[in-house]
Amino acid sequence: MKDYKRNLMSEKVGKSAVKLSPVPRRASLAETVYEKILALIISPKTPPGSRLSVDALGRDLKVSQTPIRQALVRLQAQGLVVKAQNVGYSTAPLPSAKVYKDIFQFRLLVEPEVARMAAENMSKKDVSKLEVLMARMEDPVQKELNLRYGQFAVDDGKFHMWIAEKAGNSITTHALEQLHTHTHLFRLRNHHTVTEEAIVEHRAIFNAVIKRKALLARDAMFNHIEASFKRMVPYFGE
Ligand SMILES: [Zn+2]
Repeated sequence: MKDYKRNLMSEKVGKSAVKLSPVPRRASLAETVYEKILALIISPKTPPGSRLSVDALGRDLKVSQTPIRQALVRLQAQGLVVKAQNVGYSTAPLPSAKVYKDIFQFRLLVEPEVARMAAENMSKKDVSKLEVLMARMEDPVQKELNLRYGQFAVDDGKFHMWIAEKAGNSITTHALEQLHTHTHLFRLRNHHTVTEEAIVEHRAIFNAVIKRKALLARDAMFNHIEASFKRMVPYFGE
């Protein structure tokens, strides 16, 4: 809840400060580094408990330690990375089966309604933005890379967050963001078919949302989350 309050505050400050100019380049570097490390955490290359060295990440991504450390602090706050004294950062253990089930239950309660509201708020400009994200997820070449590097999970998360933001309820958006469901899910292995099926289901949600068919969007989202649960449940641990 702290972050949420801070966001509200910074929004207020941003609105009243007239002379501040935007800093997109730096902001996007931090965001890009964050997304790259996030995709790495999801990829099979780094199972739970893998060490994440600040030096090595900086060398691989060819950036200074500052954005790496910022990203790791953010990932730690999201429960995806843990920090131990004298060891440094490593990928967090997987959530328990109970936590996974609770996450799905929460999503079933919230996200269908969120999709319904998003469909009602959809404008033409929104549609073209969402179309770009859809095209990336459906591109066969990109799909191959996605499966290998976990980028699909990042895009999947973006798709759901985009719909959440369109719904226009800051509380549900914040709650879904903090859950980081997609990252947790995609850290489970063996999800190639999961990706394939999710793409088809996303298309159904997308079609309903852009046509502003609110009830259809709600049902398509419900079906997607329920189907996703059924696909993932065999991979939940103890
Ligand atoms: Zn999805």
